[in-house]
Amino acid sequence: MSLARLGLRVALVEGRQPPPWSAEVPDLRVYAFAPDNAALLDGLGVWKAVRDARAQAYRRMRVWDASGGGEMSFDADMLGRDQLGWIVENSLLVDRLWAALPEAGVRLHCPSRVDSMEQDADGVRLRLDDGTRLESRLVIAADGADSTVRGLAGVQVAQHDYRQSGVVAFVQTSQAHQSTAWQRFLPGGPLAFLPFADGRSSIVWTLPDAEAARVLALDDSAFDRELTQAFEARLGEVRLASKRVAFPLRRQLAQAHVAGRVLLVGDAAHVVHPLAGQGVNLGLRDVSRLRDSVADALERRIDWAADHRLARWSRQCRSDNAAAAYAFDGVNRVFSNDGMHATLLRGFALGLAGKLPPLANLFWRKASGG
Ligand SMILES: Cc1cc2nc3c(=O)[nH]c(=O)nc-3n(C[C@H](O)[C@H](O)[C@H](O)COP(=O)(O)OP(=O)(O)OC[C@H]3O[C@@H](n4cnc5c(N)ncnc54)[C@H](O)[C@@H]3O)c2cc1C
Repeated sequence: MSLARLGLRVALVEGRQPPPWSAEVPDLRVYAFAPDNAALLDGLGVWKAVRDARAQAYRRMRVWDASGGGEMSFDADMLGRDQLGWIVENSLLVDRLWAALPEAGVRLHCPSRVDSMEQDADGVRLRLDDGTRLESRLVIAADGADSTVRGLAGVQVAQHDYRQSGVVAFVQTSQAHQSTAWQRFLPGGPLAFLPFADGRSSIVWTLPDAEAARVLALDDSAFDRELTQAFEARLGEVRLASKRVAFPLRRQLAQAHVAGRVLLVGDAAHVVHPLAGQGVNLGLRDVSRLRDSVADALERRIDWAADHRLARWSRQCRSDNAAAAYAFDGVNRVFSNDGMHATLLRGFALGLAGKLPPLANLFWRKASGG
């Protein structure tokens, strides 16, 4: 949609019609949405519609370690902002973006999937499963972690299975969430409580796979007890307020963001550990960079799809995304660990960052795209 707004002719091929957002049944997949990406959506005229529907601003973040030691705290005031970001549902974002496509001039092919693809130096030819043929100077693979287009372009991925799962659910806590995103590091992985707009919290509980299966099988009251304890009852008693589901965690990095005339963005290019809540944020930054590169070329009346421009875009995205993926890996390794050295290291890291506001500031600016 960003490219259509710049005046390019854009067609979107989507495999399934997104289910409409439901105010009554919140989507379990929620994001800690960063301010730079809110600005991206604002530029598309979509952010207001998302905020008006349901978005919880969070103003503080508290991170601490189960083995004691350090605690790190970020506050929007430290950055001179009203909030650090917003907690929003995936289905709401998709719903509002989808509704804005026709006005932006994006031609839709849905439900439709790419069957085959050929490319040469001039462009790409696609055949869809309904027989439609499309020709384009560029194809953008934004079809998720198991991207078909990436496969057709012959781009390999490097994968690492964390052997952890993220258990997600909504919970009610006896104390208010205080517009704060909370994260406690436990030996099995981080446990996050994200403030949700209706007073509930959305949890992401990272656990070794077998542990995740065990807590999913607990009855509700046993789950509540274990979760309250895992969270040190920071917000009092915790009570389950939705179903719970688990998703497997992996790191997956494509070997390139560009293959000829095919560009990879979002999870098609990179899947990262959810501990920093950056998956969707990194994907939208790929998009912002591409929009900026195309806008710059159009303004200077030069070829927006020249190979060297695509290569430069790819290099920037790849180095930032790989750095982020390995940084989250390192944090996960040091924090999901009972060993003495790891315990000392994270106590030191959290304590130091907590005591040095400029350091916390720097961390936060990077995470929020500032
Ligand atoms: C439980 C959970 C919690 C998460 N929490 C966070 C968080 O707090 N913050 C964060 O930033 N990230 C989070 N993430 C990660 C985030 O969900 C992903 O990074 C993000 O959804 C990736 O977006 P995407 O558009 O690249 O891929 P997807 O969301 O997977 O979208 C791909 C789209 O392509 C379509 N498609 C797929 N194959 C085809 C095909 N062959 N033909 C046509 N269409 C196709 C699909 O229908 C879909 O619409 C979380 C993920 C999960 C699972």
